[in-house]
Amino acid sequence: MNNIKATWNIELLTSCPKCDYGIDITQIEDFWHTQIEPIEYGTVATTDFEVTCPECTHEFKVDFEYYEWSDYQNKKFYAQPK
Ligand SMILES: [Zn+2]
Repeated sequence: MNNIKATWNIELLTSCPKCDYGIDITQIEDFWHTQIEPIEYGTVATTDFEVTCPECTHEFKVDFEYYEWSDYQNKKFYAQPK
């Protein structure tokens, strides 16, 4: 009997500082050619990462971050200033 499947669902979410458009960086075609590992952050590759807003073409840089589940429960994630 086959086990039930468990599916990874990875998103890397940010928003454009100019138009506030929500962006999932993993949906940008070039992202998967970067060799960046899932949940990698605090490295050269994940600092000053250049993003072009698909809505308004504004270019900006992001630093990746990752929260453990316990941090979500402590609401650190939701306390982030917009
Ligand atoms: Zn934008």
